[in-house]
Amino acid sequence: MIEIKHYGKLIRHKEDLSDETIRTVQKGVIKNKQGRWQCIQCESPERADYYTYYSEPLHSEITYCRHCLQLGRMDTHNDIYITDSRRETSKADYHLDFQLSEQQTYASENVIRAIQTHEKLLLYAVTGAGKTEMMFAGIQYARQQGYNVAVISPRVDVVVEISARIAEAFSAENIDVLYQGQSQQYNGHFVVATVHQLYRFKHHFDVIFIDEVDAFPLSMDPLLMKTINSASVSTASHIYMTATPSRKLRSQFKPANIITLPARYHRRSLPVPTYRYLKFKPTKLQHQLLRLFQQQINIQRYTLVFFNHIEAMKAAFEIYAEHIPNLIYVHSEDALRFDKVTALREGRHPIVFTTTILERGFTMPHLDVIVLESQTYSTAALVQIAGRVGRKMQDTSGLVLYLHNGVSISMLCAKAQIKQMNTIGLQKGWLDA
Ligand SMILES: [Zn+2]
Repeated sequence: MIEIKHYGKLIRHKEDLSDETIRTVQKGVIKNKQGRWQCIQCESPERADYYTYYSEPLHSEITYCRHCLQLGRMDTHNDIYITDSRRETSKADYHLDFQLSEQQTYASENVIRAIQTHEKLLLYAVTGAGKTEMMFAGIQYARQQGYNVAVISPRVDVVVEISARIAEAFSAENIDVLYQGQSQQYNGHFVVATVHQLYRFKHHFDVIFIDEVDAFPLSMDPLLMKTINSASVSTASHIYMTATPSRKLRSQFKPANIITLPARYHRRSLPVPTYRYLKFKPTKLQHQLLRLFQQQINIQRYTLVFFNHIEAMKAAFEIYAEHIPNLIYVHSEDALRFDKVTALREGRHPIVFTTTILERGFTMPHLDVIVLESQTYSTAALVQIAGRVGRKMQDTSGLVLYLHNGVSISMLCAKAQIKQMNTIGLQKGWLDA
């Protein structure tokens, strides 16, 4: 077996190290200057995350971080080791089956510029713009300089998907793919990981791409920024990518460092949502809705129907399953969700009831979306849901229907945002009229 090196990392067991340089030895939980407990791994500022008890065998009080129990216990008793980072160049040749679009090239150039100038950048890219490929030239540039690179996402499914695409393109590179249950195989110079895995790295990365940054739970916001900063060297470049940046996120960038990417890679405009009044009653058969589903089946489209509550979805399923062949529902706590999504992709279910679990990531040809009670969704969720439609080269349009009982500001904003992106795309010449 090849020996793995732990550069720029927090290590709990000294025997995991060989010739790495240890920069710091300290306890996993310390009292900071303000007199508060601080976990060296996750840096949680939450008082409730720290638990103190009296240890009989040690004859002393011990405080540990509850937040880190899964990741590796941090406490006031045991030493932890932080190692020096190290850089190593690689060729980072990559292979693509297609040419980058004009827009992707523009984005790539900006990514390289941000890495060269050590700045942070926001790629505000519509769903289906081809974000992953926009990173490739930047990754190559960075790796050729010897920079340590990480691509992170809040969601395991995104990490799995994106790491497969990156590994396919950079087939000769040693890429560490880290998420729960997947451990380091190489020396951590090129990492694709969930954000939690970043806790283990300290002062290591020169370039971090943060994908789907708006999908992080809001409560994690401050901790997320801290985590990214602690894992980075002080001159690092951070590149955020999202289709729905919040105002707060946008306010953190210089205007010149917000790169708007309004076009899909296939050069067709985004499907614009339509509104229709329907007061949804989960426990009643609504003929208007049933007709809508039947029409969708007749024209041979696949339809995702979005519900805001699992209970309402299950109730409606009981009613419509009698009338709709192969009706299925899926939600985030569904043990069979992976199998169901696979069956979906195979085209076995023309109508699918879903919660926001399929709001991101999922896509297939001939797909339409219907949102029930649209007035209860955020702008970002509505934009992401609309973004499922028309993604494939062979099927670039489709139905985005927001059912509602009173149009909300969020609905208006979602529609305005989508239309604005289409306008900018046309002006830039990145869309075919
Ligand atoms: Zn912790």
